[in-house]
Amino acid sequence: METFEEHYAAMQAAIAKHLPGADMALIDRAVEYANAKHKYQKRKDGSPYIIHPLAVAEVIAEMGLDQDAILGALLHDCIEDTDASHEDIEKLFGQTVAELVEGVTKLTRANFSTSEQAQMENLRKMFMAMSKDIRVVLIKIADRLHNMRTMQYQTPAKQILKCRETMDIYAPLAHRLGMQKIKWELEDLALRYLAPGEYDNIMAYLQAHQEQDESFMQTIQSKITERLTNMGIHNKTYGRIKHVYSIYRKTQTQGKSIDELYDLYAFRVIVDSIPDCYNVLGHVHDLFNLVPGRFKDYISTPKPNMYQSLHTTVIGSQGIPFEVQIRTWEMHETAEYGIAAHWKYKQGTGSGSEKDFEWVRRLLESQQDSDAEEYVQSLKIDMFDDEVFVFTPKGRIVSLPSGSTPIDFAYAIHSGVGNAMVGARVNNRIANIDAKLKNGDIVEIITSKSAKGPSRDWLNICKSNQARTKIKQWFKKEKREENVLHGKSSFESEMKRVGLPLTAITDPALEPHLLKKLSFDSWDEMYAAIGYGGLTAVKAVGRIRDDVNKALKAQAAEKAPVNPLRMRPDSETVLQNRHAVNGVIVEDIDSCMIKFARCCTPVPGDAIVGFITKGFGVSVHRADCPNAQNRDDPRQSARWVRVRWATQEEQPFETTLELDCITRDGLLLDVATVMTTARVRVKELNGRDLPGGRSMFTVRFEVKNVGELETIRKKLLNIRDVVGSRRGQN
Ligand code: MN
Repeated sequence: METFEEHYAAMQAAIAKHLPGADMALIDRAVEYANAKHKYQKRKDGSPYIIHPLAVAEVIAEMGLDQDAILGALLHDCIEDTDASHEDIEKLFGQTVAELVEGVTKLTRANFSTSEQAQMENLRKMFMAMSKDIRVVLIKIADRLHNMRTMQYQTPAKQILKCRETMDIYAPLAHRLGMQKIKWELEDLALRYLAPGEYDNIMAYLQAHQEQDESFMQTIQSKITERLTNMGIHNKTYGRIKHVYSIYRKTQTQGKSIDELYDLYAFRVIVDSIPDCYNVLGHVHDLFNLVPGRFKDYISTPKPNMYQSLHTTVIGSQGIPFEVQIRTWEMHETAEYGIAAHWKYKQGTGSGSEKDFEWVRRLLESQQDSDAEEYVQSLKIDMFDDEVFVFTPKGRIVSLPSGSTPIDFAYAIHSGVGNAMVGARVNNRIANIDAKLKNGDIVEIITSKSAKGPSRDWLNICKSNQARTKIKQWFKKEKREENVLHGKSSFESEMKRVGLPLTAITDPALEPHLLKKLSFDSWDEMYAAIGYGGLTAVKAVGRIRDDVNKALKAQAAEKAPVNPLRMRPDSETVLQNRHAVNGVIVEDIDSCMIKFARCCTPVPGDAIVGFITKGFGVSVHRADCPNAQNRDDPRQSARWVRVRWATQEEQPFETTLELDCITRDGLLLDVATVMTTARVRVKELNGRDLPGGRSMFTVRFEVKNVGELETIRKKLLNIRDVVGSRRGQN
């Protein structure tokens, strides 16, 4: 069991170290107040409750925060768990402390569920609070840290729940705030409960290799220290093993076991000045072999969480690679405590500069207008993914999620820039707006006053939540009504142009199907899309055209009058048959009369179409017949139907060939001879002279199919002075 005295002493030591001028009498009053208020409460392990606020205050003091934050930490559970009120605390400890406690209470109250919706609410409140006073969030993180340190007293279900939440929210938050030390501890503690087997394996391995690791690190450390000291560079150099969670993640992402990993070691060199950092880098590269491509200069380009250091990976004489991080003391402080350290330096000038809260504002901006799941998802992306750093033409650094495009960049600058964007230049060259930006790219957005605004495709191209949210907002607000009107009118005129009746799209039998085909929920939505140019009217109509036509034909066919009494068997080949009539099947129509159009005399094998005549059944044309080219005519389109040849038809079909010839005596006889030799039944054969010594022969004859027709045509073309042929059109 832990005692009050232990924790009080630890807190006092931290305050003495980091905030020597603190008013200990006031702090003691807060300890007494909290202790009195919590006196009936116990921690899960049976310890007095007060050790929790003491431990949280210790963490806050370690971070280097101020006296108000320490008081806030001591009192952080008073409003939530006891009868203390905002007014009481304000009276005793001042307005700022009361507001800090109130802020933490709000976050705690929001903290009851891990469903995405609830998490979003948590996060939202957390960020709201943060944008007002960062200390509220720092106290909340310290609170979580102590709760994680004492997680063993919780039930297994609660452990999993809290650890998941820690991994999803608190560790990334600590990372974003630059608090590496706390982030690592949170991750390691959470891993212990989330993957106990793996955690134990790694711990056991590290323990078994401790001696070996230490001697390796000692060797490297002395080598570096010796060189730097000889060169007169004041330094503190030490080695460490990477933290458990980062080893765990390496084994997971690289699919290796721990003994196959080799980049487990990291060394840190802390020096007095930035020039020293670069000097040290030179010496490290001189002492060891450089691993190419691993050098990163976070001093000239700090991470968005303000982290600065030089990173390089080298290989020592044992062939073991290790990372060396080189930084100044101030950078070190920032790396360990992040925004807290920064906040500390800024104390005199108010709480943090504008720029420090840029990412907070970004998150706040993007949380409006998006649903819970999407928000949490995008937060994860925005907070976890590596960033890419690009520059404005004036040299301002803009950090974006990696994989970002000029669209993301434009919206990161300003939504007005994004909405007016017509193109982009990357490194002075015109680039596609979906080009992936790389570190160091100089990006310039080309805007135009007459820009139509974003296109809906951009939603799929952009990577950052910020851009996506702003684009969506644009669509929602700006142009909706205008788009619908504009889109509707272009859609309707396109329908007219291709001869589709507008009534088709509101036909209750068709409408749901057509909307589904177009992937819209309503026509207005589609009109809006056409209106802003996300979809063209031609494309939209093209997508539904076949279906509308088919439906219309089916409807027309049902209504088409079919009267067998009016057939004229002598002049037309008209028959009635349930399925194949004259070897032709009319799709979707079971029983009807069929005749073959005299204009193009189709034979089996020809591509054919059917026309519903007024009173004579379906007339079959060759698909390429000139009389069948008006299929798209709105007045007629509904009467054209799909027909096809039935197979295994041996019945002869009449067809006509026209032969172009150079006039000579005996040609007619030659043609007749060919036809006779081919055993073709000729119905008609005649010729007439044309100007210029030309003549044309017309042969009407019977064939079984288009193959036979082609054989005969070839034979006819072999006749001397027959120079061309075409299918008849009488
Ligand atoms: Mn607490």
